[in-house]
Amino acid sequence: MIHSIIDNHVLNNVCRLIHESTHIVITCHKSPDGDAIGSSLALCHLLNNMGKMANVVIPDSVPRTLHFLPTLRDVTVYTKAELRAKRLVSQAELIICLDFNAITRIDKLGVVIEESPTPRVLIDHHLDPVSHFDEMISFPEASSTCELVYRFMSEAGYGSLIDKLIAECLYVGIMTDTGNFTYSSASPELYEIVANLMTYGIDKEQLYRLAMNTYSADSVRLQGYALHEKMQIFADKGVALLTLTREELQHFNYRKGDTEGLVNKPLAIPEVTISIFMRQDPDFIKVSCRSQGDRPVNDICRQYFNGGGHRNAAGGDFYGTMDQAIDTFFTILEQINPDNNNSTSL
Ligand code: 5GP
Ligand code: MN
Repeated sequence: MIHSIIDNHVLNNVCRLIHESTHIVITCHKSPDGDAIGSSLALCHLLNNMGKMANVVIPDSVPRTLHFLPTLRDVTVYTKAELRAKRLVSQAELIICLDFNAITRIDKLGVVIEESPTPRVLIDHHLDPVSHFDEMISFPEASSTCELVYRFMSEAGYGSLIDKLIAECLYVGIMTDTGNFTYSSASPELYEIVANLMTYGIDKEQLYRLAMNTYSADSVRLQGYALHEKMQIFADKGVALLTLTREELQHFNYRKGDTEGLVNKPLAIPEVTISIFMRQDPDFIKVSCRSQGDRPVNDICRQYFNGGGHRNAAGGDFYGTMDQAIDTFFTILEQINPDNNNSTSL
């Protein structure tokens, strides 16, 4: 049985805000992943099914690996269509923020939204949401924002408006944020939710292939190079480091999304319980961390990389050279105590 989890008062307020609004903007975090963009498209489609003028407005572009998602072409990307994004935000009577816990996670679009007097609702599963929202549906223990959006749709009584397109988008977000249902965040109730989504006739085999196992030849070669030439393993600490410089990325014709999933690969090695990947993007070094068990990587990202995230999946940005980033890694490594796998110690 799928229990109701959303506070009645919050649920009623969010429903009231939706009913009182015609123009609604939905947004999600920068460098959107399957959960961020899947939840946004699903909710947007549901609101349009209700007769609303809903629009997804996002800070930057969606990686190629997710371009198969239905209705993606209707999304407004701030870095590509700033004026249109600003116009949609200024017209909106309600802004719904998905899959992030602080407005700073949406870059320049965050400034536009923060300056707007329009009510803001948050639906999210990250720890410690910053309270600049009028209503918050925040459950850090949830597997994904897509799980929460499904629960919201059902608990709000909008279930009859769910269709195959919505089910596909929600399924992709749940699948990608649970590592295809392998993480402990996948609860028994989540499988009931997925069972319900499957009744809409979604093709989960195809969605898995498209969302999680489709790479260009350049991307497969880049990942092979990274693992063969650039992976360092510090077995005594249970840590692996992967780094890719601008030149290395360019050599493999890097395009956004090409390193998706790479940070998980070292965790296949039994001795490795923390994997850190540093990729030199044009403006900063993007850091991605993954871990297994009770080894919190969000603390590392918060402390050293202006970031955050979940206990076992986190990220951040480093402003400096790759050598400086690697120096920081060694500072972190020194503090990692392999024998003390609890949340008070890195
Ligand atoms: P990824 O490594 O796939 O980019 O991100 C994994 C998770 O880490 C995201 O779902 C998000 O929760 C968190 N994350 C990634 N980058 C950042 C960042 O720059 N700031 C914060 N606060 N969290 C991040
Ligand atoms: Mn998520």
